[in-house]
Amino acid sequence: MKRKLNLNKVKVSRQVQIAPGVFVLSFPRPWDFTAGQVLGIGAHATDEARLYSIASGELDEEVDVLFNINPDGKLTPWLAKIVTGDNIWVSEPFGSFTGTAEPAWWIASGTGIAPFSAMLRTGLIAGKKLIHGGRSLDSFYFHEKFKPLLGDNYVRCCSRDSAPGIYDGRITKYLSTLNQLPANEKYYLCGSAEMVVEVRDILIEKGIPFDNIISEIYF
Ligand SMILES: Cc1cc2nc3c(=O)[nH]c(=O)nc-3n(C[C@H](O)[C@H](O)[C@H](O)COP(=O)(O)OP(=O)(O)OC[C@H]3O[C@@H](n4cnc5c(N)ncnc54)[C@H](O)[C@@H]3O)c2cc1C
Repeated sequence: MKRKLNLNKVKVSRQVQIAPGVFVLSFPRPWDFTAGQVLGIGAHATDEARLYSIASGELDEEVDVLFNINPDGKLTPWLAKIVTGDNIWVSEPFGSFTGTAEPAWWIASGTGIAPFSAMLRTGLIAGKKLIHGGRSLDSFYFHEKFKPLLGDNYVRCCSRDSAPGIYDGRITKYLSTLNQLPANEKYYLCGSAEMVVEVRDILIEKGIPFDNIISEIYF
């Protein structure tokens, strides 16, 4: 998504490819933010920024952004070539898809895991259950951080590959198999429009009040 925002220059401290076409870009944290918020990124001060969730914790010294290349896109093919010391342009953080200390379900597809990474790294772990959907086994970004802290409350749903300990099928299939979902907890959904809409419908069918479903759609 593009958005006209005030952008300021920052120097990239590092960029790491963590899966084919998927990167984590880092720069020194210039402001405070709340886990779950997004920022705008552009290649120039006057660009229409694309939005990205912050994937690092509120107190981390660096801001991490997780993104995948959209081959036909304007920003991400350029962003993927950035190396240590290059400049990018970023907005201040904003957004209301923010985590709390209350028990909640986190449901993500693909790079939609980023805001939950920020929440986990901020310490919002108690009472959280994370359902992460991905096409291939290498698309469960940050699993090495989630698994030790969430244990059995971290469920990976893989639509194309199978492996021990990983649910065989999409998030929607997994959720449909669950008999009862707590109606008084919040459900945070983040990822593609298709996933968010399908999951929301399943949750409503299972008796979750609409107001307990909070969504962030990446488009
Ligand atoms: C709240 C929010 C948070 C987000 N967080 C993340 C995140 O953490 N990580 C992440 O990877 N992504 C995230 N996104 C998505 C991100 O903002 C970008 O949309 C994505 O990275 C693509 O950017 P791009 O500049 O490469 O592609 P774009 O240039 O925006 O192009 C996207 C697609 O649109 C098509 N397109 C572009 N211009 C035209 C045109 N004029 N006519 C027809 N088609 C066109 C392109 O062919 C391409 O397929 C988020 C989006 C939102 C709304």
